Amino acid sequence: MDSVLIVSACLVGINCKYNGGNNRCEILVEAFKKGNIVPLCPEQLGGLPTPRPPAKISGKDGRDILNGTGKVLTVEGKQKDVTENFLKGAYETLYAAELLRDRVVACILKEKSPSCGVKKIYKFETDHLKEGLGVTAALLSEKGFKIISSDDIESIEKILREIG
Ligand code: SF4
Repeated sequence: MDSVLIVSACLVGINCKYNGGNNRCEILVEAFKKGNIVPLCPEQLGGLPTPRPPAKISGKDGRDILNGTGKVLTVEGKQKDVTENFLKGAYETLYAAELLRDRVVACILKEKSPSCGVKKIYKFETDHLKEGLGVTAALLSEKGFKIISSDDIESIEKILREIG
C-alpha cells in the first residue's frame, strides 16, 4: 500500500487561508502531483467560509479546546465564538486520517495556525506567538498521528525521500 501524507491544504496552493490566499510550498506541490498527499483544510471542513475573519485560541492551546476549557474567538470586528467550527474541522480531518490510518506516515501542518500550528500559535490574549498546538494538530497528535511543522523543511524533505 502506498504511503501518504496528510497535509494542510493551503501548503499545496489551495486558496483556503483565512484571507483567501495560500501558503504554497513547492516540494509539497510536487509530492501532491505524485499522489502522495491528501490535502485537507480543517477550517473549511468545519464549515467556515473563505475568506473568513482571523481567529485565535483563548486558553493554553488546542488541547484546551479539545477538553472544553478554551475557546476559539475571532479577532476582527464583532467578536464571534467559532470553537464549534474548529472542533468540527478537527474531527472531520481525523475522520479522513483514520480512513487512511495504515498508509498515513505523518501529517504536515501549517505552523502558527490556530488549527494546524504544531509548535507555535497566536494566543487571543496577546499578539505574540506562544508555544502550543492548534486544535487539529492537538487532536491528530493525541490520536497517535505523527505531526510535522511546515517550518521543519529538513524533516519534510527526509520524509518525502522515504516515501518516494
Ligand atoms: Fe486551512 Fe490549516 Fe491552512 Fe488554515 S493553516 S488555511 S486551517 S489548512
